[in-house]
Amino acid sequence: MTTISANLQAVRARIAAACAAAGRDPVEVRLLAVSKTWSAAAVRAAAGCGQRAFGESYVQEAVAKMAELADLGLEWHFIGPLQSNKTRAVAAAFAWVHSIERLKIAERLSAQRPAGLPPLQVCIEVNVSGEASKSGCAPADAPALAAAVAKLPNLRLRGLMAIPEPTEDNRLLRSRFAALRNLRDALNAGGLALDTLSMGMSHDLEAAVAEGANIVRVGTAIFGRREPT
Ligand SMILES: *Cc1c(COP(=O)(O)O)cnc(C)c1O
Repeated sequence: MTTISANLQAVRARIAAACAAAGRDPVEVRLLAVSKTWSAAAVRAAAGCGQRAFGESYVQEAVAKMAELADLGLEWHFIGPLQSNKTRAVAAAFAWVHSIERLKIAERLSAQRPAGLPPLQVCIEVNVSGEASKSGCAPADAPALAAAVAKLPNLRLRGLMAIPEPTEDNRLLRSRFAALRNLRDALNAGGLALDTLSMGMSHDLEAAVAEGANIVRVGTAIFGRREPT
């Protein structure tokens, strides 16, 4: 548990250093602690160090953890692939969904968002790596999808998310993150008001912050290496 505390401090320091290097205000970059596969006890330890927002990719696992941790009032973000048969549970339990790839899923989430909860905060996931990555909508399809999602009553479209292909090539990585930022800027020029770029993980958060990330999604650097699932 002391490891989690030290790791969280180290990640916050990395974000602060990346912001300083980019001339950005650190309040513009939120840390999402990705707790998928980790126990409720690990999440509780991170919460004890002041971490409030947690990311999960598997619905059943996440819902069980939320029940155990209900006393903490944490903010839960769904970041994994989302199938139609899981939208109801996600709409009921999460504050954010980062991984909207299709209008049908967004429509279901809006229709199933329980009355009395604030709108579900959502990002559209964009495939900025072309053939090299399978998740996310094609960049060319993002404007129409964003316009349609922005009209749904119980969702609030906040921005875009991307997971570039793994690469050691820092210039390529930067270009992927820059592509997401440019797409966001183009959508805003077209009349949307997107304030969020969800990009950057344990190994590439510096490059993402340099290109304008507002939420970095960090698992391994906080909780350690996951067992292969
Ligand atoms: C697992 C996951 C992360 C965290 O990745 P790490 O490399 O462990 O930091 C971030 N984003 C998404 C969408 C994930 O599924």
